[in-house]
Amino acid sequence: MIVTAAADATALEHLLGSDQVLRDPESLERYRHDDAEWADSTAPLAVVLARCTDDVVTAVRWAAAAGLRVVPRGAGTGLSGGANAMADSIVVSLERMNRVLEVNTDERYAVTEPGVINDALRAAVAEHGLWYPPDPASSAISTIGGNVATNAGGICCVKYGVTRDYVLGLTVVLADGSVVELGRRTAKGVAGYDLTALMVGSEGTLGIVVSVTVKLLPLAGRDERAVIGYFPSLTAAGDAVAAISRAGIIPAALEIVDRTCLRAVDDWMHLGLPADVDTLLLARVDERGAAGDEIAGHVADVFTEAGGTDVERATDPEDIDRLFLARRLAYPALERLGPVLTEDICVPRSAVPEMLRRIQVTADAQDVTIANIAHAGDGNLHPLIIAPEGDDAAKARAKTAFDQIVADCLALGGTVTGEHGVGLLKLPGLRVELGDRVLAMHRSVKHALDPAGTLNPGKAF
Ligand SMILES: Cc1cc2nc3c(=O)[nH]c(=O)nc-3n(C[C@H](O)[C@H](O)[C@H](O)COP(=O)(O)OP(=O)(O)OC[C@H]3O[C@@H](n4cnc5c(N)ncnc54)[C@H](O)[C@@H]3O)c2cc1C
Repeated sequence: MIVTAAADATALEHLLGSDQVLRDPESLERYRHDDAEWADSTAPLAVVLARCTDDVVTAVRWAAAAGLRVVPRGAGTGLSGGANAMADSIVVSLERMNRVLEVNTDERYAVTEPGVINDALRAAVAEHGLWYPPDPASSAISTIGGNVATNAGGICCVKYGVTRDYVLGLTVVLADGSVVELGRRTAKGVAGYDLTALMVGSEGTLGIVVSVTVKLLPLAGRDERAVIGYFPSLTAAGDAVAAISRAGIIPAALEIVDRTCLRAVDDWMHLGLPADVDTLLLARVDERGAAGDEIAGHVADVFTEAGGTDVERATDPEDIDRLFLARRLAYPALERLGPVLTEDICVPRSAVPEMLRRIQVTADAQDVTIANIAHAGDGNLHPLIIAPEGDDAAKARAKTAFDQIVADCLALGGTVTGEHGVGLLKLPGLRVELGDRVLAMHRSVKHALDPAGTLNPGKAF
């Protein structure tokens, strides 16, 4: 049965209650897109504020019967358009499903609803002496469900791995409204295909995650130090990153923040960051005691040999937090300067200097400002292309720069997205990266689980 748009949302309100279905124009506009404003979007017909699994099932069944599409949404902090609404769609928001359901200290796992904010989960398990490592720079604002759906990375992921490494099991609402339990709670397990891993990073195209079981680590046992160095250019900092990798050092974080970002953060937050430096390289080392001191010393030596100046070690937690705060604030600080087109390429660590050089060449060739932050330790670079508001010519050049950066990344053996997901923005690059046969496999998987194309069609591949 296909219903018309006019018939739709009233019936949905009857099923779920009017307080759980938004239909006013301001709300539809608010839920129209994620943080990737450059990607296409269309206002949805309605927004469902799900409170429980049954609400999600009701919304999906109703939409499927009506021939509408369903766009799952967490906090809408995505940077590739994955949560952007499309024609004839409803958005199902998971933000109200925000309870941590269980923390099991003996088995070291937690079970959480999808709308729990990453930092809130980390705080909840810390009360039990446990640690959930994946720490996207958006940890204060993004949901665990969104993190799972994008397989989010983060700052400490260079050493501790990404979201997929911590997801033991999922409860998922499928496209026909059935509910399945995937995965396990045991420390090991290889029963059947790894459908849990398939769901992680599937960007809401295969199912809607309604609960997540995550593996936890003990909180104690780390001893934090930061090593910072200032470099005369981005490529010099890139050389230091490649040298750290060659030396076999695995820091707990290795981040680049360039001068455009440092200035934007300081103009906004007045953190007292140095005004006259080009590029900051920021490492964290968390081994305990003398071993940690030795590794931090090694990192400092590599920074100095690679041309770093004012190389310093910080052990005061406040200093360390201040420096990493500058990294976390870089993106929102830049957004204040104008619309930002965010890149998320990942190249082999040895190719980081060459990729950074090519980004600068592209910025000059297209006459656009490209600021840079990077989870440099795993080769994941975020060139941030800024176009002044209302300048269409600059916007077109920014788009050309974006495509050139993707092409350079692929030429250097990289991948078009390290952690933000494909969404809409990376579709052209992904098609080049995967090739026809592998894309056909993606279509087969989608067809097997969602033959009618109800869940977030047109995203991710
Ligand atoms: C300042 C800033 C810093 C950031 N830093 C990082 C970073 O360091 N690392 C990183 O990886 N990302 C980062 N991001 C991007 C973003 O925060 C992540 O992609 C995050 O995982 C998205 O979570 P969300 O709750 O906002 O999801 P949304 O943006 O709402 O959705 C993201 C995708 O997941 C799908 N989805 C959401 N919830 C569910 C669900 N329950 N079931 C199925 N599908 C679902 C959506 O359909 C969409 O495709 C950053 C963003 C900002 C604004």
